[in-house]
Amino acid sequence: MARVSGHKAKAIGARSPLGRRFGERTGVELAKLGLETEEDLLRHYPRRYVERGACTPLDVGTPGEPVTYIAEVVHLTKRFARDRRMQIISVTISDGTSTLPLTFFARQAYLASHLERQLKVGTVAMFAGTLKQGLHGQRELTHPEVEPLDSWDDEETARREAGRPVPIYGATTKLPSWKIRDAIRTVLDPLTEAEVLDPVPAEIVSRRGLMSELAALRAIHMPEDKRDSSRARHRLRYDEAFLLQTALARRRADLAAFDAQPRPAVEGGLVTAFDAQLPFTLTDGQVAVAGEIGADLAAAAPMQRLLQGEVGSGKTVVALRAMLQVVDNGGQAALLAPTEVLAHQHARTIRALLGPLGEAGMLGGSSEGTRVALLTGSLGAAARKAALLQAASGEAGIVVGTHALLGERVQFADLGLVVVDEQHRFGVEQRDALRAKGKVMPHQLYMTATPIPRSVAMTFFGDVEVSTLREIPAGRSPIATHVVPAGNARWMERVWSKVAEEIDGGGRVYVVAPRISSTQEEEGVDVDASLTGEGEQKRSPGATELVDGGPDSTANVEDAAAWLRRFSGLDPAAIGVMHGRLTTEEKDAAMAAFAWGAVPVLVSTTVIEVGVDVPEATMMVVLDADRFGLSQLHQLRGRVGRGSKPGTCLVVSWTEAGSSSQERLTILAETLDGFRLAEADLEQRREGDILGAAQSGRATSLRLLRVIADADIIEQARADARELISEDPNLAHHPELLIAITQLVDPDHEEFLDRV
Ligand code: ADP
Ligand code: MG
Repeated sequence: MARVSGHKAKAIGARSPLGRRFGERTGVELAKLGLETEEDLLRHYPRRYVERGACTPLDVGTPGEPVTYIAEVVHLTKRFARDRRMQIISVTISDGTSTLPLTFFARQAYLASHLERQLKVGTVAMFAGTLKQGLHGQRELTHPEVEPLDSWDDEETARREAGRPVPIYGATTKLPSWKIRDAIRTVLDPLTEAEVLDPVPAEIVSRRGLMSELAALRAIHMPEDKRDSSRARHRLRYDEAFLLQTALARRRADLAAFDAQPRPAVEGGLVTAFDAQLPFTLTDGQVAVAGEIGADLAAAAPMQRLLQGEVGSGKTVVALRAMLQVVDNGGQAALLAPTEVLAHQHARTIRALLGPLGEAGMLGGSSEGTRVALLTGSLGAAARKAALLQAASGEAGIVVGTHALLGERVQFADLGLVVVDEQHRFGVEQRDALRAKGKVMPHQLYMTATPIPRSVAMTFFGDVEVSTLREIPAGRSPIATHVVPAGNARWMERVWSKVAEEIDGGGRVYVVAPRISSTQEEEGVDVDASLTGEGEQKRSPGATELVDGGPDSTANVEDAAAWLRRFSGLDPAAIGVMHGRLTTEEKDAAMAAFAWGAVPVLVSTTVIEVGVDVPEATMMVVLDADRFGLSQLHQLRGRVGRGSKPGTCLVVSWTEAGSSSQERLTILAETLDGFRLAEADLEQRREGDILGAAQSGRATSLRLLRVIADADIIEQARADARELISEDPNLAHHPELLIAITQLVDPDHEEFLDRV
């Protein structure tokens, strides 16, 4: 592998503009860092700075890692190797606290004396290389690159540079930080203001009090002081936010330019009849959001709206009203769900909520009503044909389904609204495929139960409007969450006896484990895998017994079920299992047996994470809870307390008291606020993880911008970008900006911008 990528880097690096400018070898090394053009080089910002004179801690870094240290030479000895053919120079450097041995070999005498001169005791210099583990386990550097700190040619430069922080760059073993700095300076120093294209319009630069683009580049690579570099960072962060927001604002404008068919509220139609028969009143939040959606549907531009709300906040009811408004106008709505289980459940819920209104043409059905069709991959040929016909004829006003909805043979009479549940589980092409089934572009509503902090929504979903349901409808029961240390046998016994008590009291209990079996990959967050059976690669065998398990093993469904059967005192027939390796029929059967109460304990992977609604479920035990993100745990525990009885969630973990993993679980126990948890998650993890892996473009386009910490910048940039696009939709008057955005929206980035 390494060799292959090395070849690739070589081929690219040698031919790259940087290879031509700085020589083939340097070009190859720069290519390893992903740097091929001068622009790349200028955007290779320092990772950090060190104050000149201050040493960097020498105990940071593990063997195998490239490191750069600033340290003082405290010892030097020179001796001949046994064969006297070369000299060995041993040097010790110190940061004032710890020391590190360096070894140099010199075949030529002049090299040896050069090193001796360069590394006189008391010299402070930069040392870079790859840490090695010595014979006795000690860390050491062999033949590091050395750069004396003050090797300036003339005194004036020396004086000017002396006060500056030293930038430390991401480097390779062969190309240390200071050589990268020198290459950057070679490109940067001769640049003039006129040569640096500023993507941000001058008017905004001055209104926001930003430094010029060139000044920012100079200040980030060679700051006078800390303030200077932080101003530069602010400017460059604004650039990133602004480019992204402008691209999103343009997309928003482009989509809005498509014609959509207005589907306004119809007096005395299905929506009115539906509201009249609802067994509850809508919450204020539902009314407000329904109003926003209703207005969007009435417009001639396609709706692009993300509806986010806690699990159980009543999104489905709101979405159903939107679907009915479209049906009232003679159109159809499609609801795309990520899994078979969810599609079935949606169809069931929607049919139940509609009652006779969803049984048009059937005995006892309402004559003004419509029909709900269900289309999934597992349907038999006859049922599939019937569903296809209902969709194509328009007989079904609402078509619920999985990926099967995207098939070529699926046609609609008049598709007016596409609702995508858990939208982040679908790729762009999938959503586009469904959208393309409308005669004109359908209105689009995306739903997610993963709360997204506002600044994240603005970064990643900046081109859609966001509606949020914040309250949980009255009548929902509270969930009490407790953290249980897995290492405490007494507590664990208590957990299992509580499961049995809960069942005796008529409750239902979920037990969740990260893996299916001890020899199996963690099932993780990917619900789709449960459909396709993919994503279940083998990993090295893990733990076997939960009871003997330790911090190094991962809990799994098979073992947890076996253990429950043995130790909870429950009838083995009361314990069911659920995971992605089961067939669709097995999954449906397991879900159904749990929902009826025939099998009141369900041991499962995270396939139950999303949307599963069994009101009788009162308790959940999550094993190895620290393997999951906070938002995911919150999502999981939302499966209980959905009925009239309060819920209990026991999160079991081997994490040590006081560790950051333990702290996260404590936050989970303390709050039911999904937004707070999403933020806590983001504070600890890279934002990419939380939104899934599809943000391929983020790494290259967002170098400095941090979605939580820079919320203010993102907000400003969005306002500026929207204003600019409303004045100059095609950026005809801002060619530099257009170029910058076109680069941003290359095929790699499309996915990124197209998160929704
Ligand atoms: P979500 O899709 O956001 O998870 P649902 O729409 O499935 O939430 O609603 C969760 C439960 O709450 C359902 O049983 C639903 O019938 C019920 N529900 C929805 N809105 C209300 C309301 N305003 N008052 C009472 N119960 C409601
Ligand atoms: Mg739902």
